[in-house]
Amino acid sequence: MIIRIWGVRGSSPVPLSPGELQKKINAVINLVKPDDLINDASKQRFLANLPPDIRTTVGGNTACIEVRTAKNRVLLLDMGTGLREFEKHRIHSSEKIDEYHIFLTHFHYDHLHGLPFFSPLYNPQVQVHFYSSLPLAEKFFSQFMAEPYHPVGWDSFTAKIDFHILQEGEQMQIDSASISWIPRVHPGGAIAYKIVDNDRIMIYSTDTQLSEKDFQKTPQNLSFFQGADLIIHDAQYTIDEAIAKYDWGHSSYSHAVGFAREFGIKKLLLFHHDPMNSDTKLEDILQSARLLNSRLKNSTDMEVDIAREGMEIEL
Ligand SMILES: [Zn+2]
Ligand SMILES: [Zn+2]
Repeated sequence: MIIRIWGVRGSSPVPLSPGELQKKINAVINLVKPDDLINDASKQRFLANLPPDIRTTVGGNTACIEVRTAKNRVLLLDMGTGLREFEKHRIHSSEKIDEYHIFLTHFHYDHLHGLPFFSPLYNPQVQVHFYSSLPLAEKFFSQFMAEPYHPVGWDSFTAKIDFHILQEGEQMQIDSASISWIPRVHPGGAIAYKIVDNDRIMIYSTDTQLSEKDFQKTPQNLSFFQGADLIIHDAQYTIDEAIAKYDWGHSSYSHAVGFAREFGIKKLLLFHHDPMNSDTKLEDILQSARLLNSRLKNSTDMEVDIAREGMEIEL
C-alpha cells in the first residue's frame, strides 16, 4: 500500500504568505557560507542540512490523502484543497485513472473544498464511488454544488457516480483491500477509516476529539486500532489549546502520541495542522511530540512524524 499526503491543514487553506517566504530566504542568506557555494555537491549538502522550516513548508492545503492499494486501486480520503495537488500529480504523470473510490470523514468545508474542481467528475468515461456514513450525503453534495455557492450544479457532473451509504459495522472490499470505519467525537460527527491490504494496516482518524473513552481497551477499540502500522491522526492543538478549546472537536499532539502508543501503533503522523501555526511552530510541535514519545515509560519503537504535502509512505 502506498500513501501520499496531498493536504494536511485543518479548517482553512493556508498559503505561504510573502512575508513568510521572505523570512525563509533571509534565514538562508544568514546561514550560507562561502564554502557551501564551491560546487553543486556543496550547495546540495547545504540545502539538505537546512532546518525543514527554512528549507520547505509542511504545506497549506486542507485534508486529502491518496491510498494506492496493492492492486493499484485509487482510494482518496477526503476532498480538501489537497485534491488539486493530487490532480496536478496525476496530470503530470499522464496516468489514466478511470475509477476512483472517495471516502469522506464528514462534510466540513476543509474536507470538501476540492469537490467542485475535481475534473474526473466531468468525464463520462470515469466512475466515481463516494462513501459516507451520512444517509443524506447525496443531498448535501447537491446543495454544496448549487447557486449561490458554485456557478454550476450537481447535474454538470458527467462521470458515472455511485453513492455508498456506510452501515454500522460494514466492511467494504475493494480488490485486496478491506475498509472499515468507526464513529469519532466531532461537532456534527465524523468517522475514521481503517484500510487493511496485504496484511498492512493504515488508519485515518482526523477531526477527532480524543477522550477517556477512546483510551479504553474495549473490544471495538482494540479490533479497530490495535497494532496498526500507521495512524494519521488529528493533532491540531497543543495541550493548552486543547484545554482552552475543549469540545471544539480536535485533539492535542500529546493526546495523539498517548493514544497511538496505547494501541501499539507503529507510526503516528500528526495531521490537521492548525491554520494559525507557522512552519516553525509545527516543527516545534513535532520535536515536542518526539520528545514525549521517547520519554514515556515502556518505550515502544513507535515512530512520530508530521504530515507534509507531497510525503509518500509505503507500507
Ligand atoms: Zn477538518
Ligand atoms: Zn471537521
